[in-house]
Amino acid sequence: MYDYDLLVVGSANADLVIDVERRPGAGETVLGGDLAVHPGGKGANQAVAAARLGARTALLARVGDDGHGRLLLDSLRTAGVATAGVLTGGAPTGVALITVDPSGDNSIVVSPGANGRLTPGDVRDADRLLRTSRVVSAQLEIPLETVVEVVRRLPEDGRFVLNPSPPRPLPREVLAACDPLIVNEHEAKVILGGAAAGDAPEDWARSLLAEGPRSVVVTLGAEGALVASAADADEARDGDGDGDGVEVARVAPVRVDAVDTTGAGDAFTAALAWRLGTGATLAEAAGYAARVGAAAVTRRGAQESFPTGAEVGAP
Ligand code: ADP
Repeated sequence: MYDYDLLVVGSANADLVIDVERRPGAGETVLGGDLAVHPGGKGANQAVAAARLGARTALLARVGDDGHGRLLLDSLRTAGVATAGVLTGGAPTGVALITVDPSGDNSIVVSPGANGRLTPGDVRDADRLLRTSRVVSAQLEIPLETVVEVVRRLPEDGRFVLNPSPPRPLPREVLAACDPLIVNEHEAKVILGGAAAGDAPEDWARSLLAEGPRSVVVTLGAEGALVASAADADEARDGDGDGDGVEVARVAPVRVDAVDTTGAGDAFTAALAWRLGTGATLAEAAGYAARVGAAAVTRRGAQESFPTGAEVGAP
């Protein structure tokens, strides 16, 4: 009855990368190495990551009627993502212009382009995709009103996962739909806007949960992650003893030699969203996602670094 395990609603960008000896200052021109063009954008990255793991995945996004758009469609189809929901036209494909210096520091200019033209109307037109997908995930590289429309159009038994990146304050209506809200440290701080009740990630998770999400995941890079949700009635009485009715659990880090962390968060979110749809608990899904995120940091690039289900092993 479900056509898709995961529907990703989000961005698709071409990442244009040039290595430079020194990043240019105001008014300056520097010569760099050969241009490398990679498919990217958080939405496309998540969709490719999920499909590579074996999830039946669809993407709702918008690209331009241009070469970058065709590059993105190609990489999505090669990974096995259903692209009927990838709309074309309205503006050039979104682009990230990235210069990287020898120390690995970068400067990035993003032109959202067609991503900024993915409208609430496009979400309404994709009603069938929303109704036939077990889990829907989104990020914030598309207009916020489009994400709001996704939340309003979720089917009764639909599950919504949000990685609020780049972060901005969120309306209560969106927060209340998140199950979970997935944030790194920086995103947690922006969403909380100074409302965190302490310095530890556990404190941020509790503070975030108080803002309305049904559950929260905080990713901690090489330190793994933690999950937080309202405890069920029994555990609220006799769980961790502090009586606040919130259960917080650490997800053990997976030790690997990290080469490039680009895209780790996207791979983590995609894996977690997919596993939740198969009936895994939040802690189980996050444990699997941590293995996927760890595998992604052992290889260079974003989409090129995402593992297959066979590489990660049984969930
Ligand atoms: P983001 O890219 O959004 O900042 P993180 O850097 O926290 O997200 O990475 C997401 C997840 O990927 C982490 O929770 C962790 O499970 C995994 N991960 C990231 N970096 C490493 C690393 N160096 N070693 C092992 N796992 C990692």
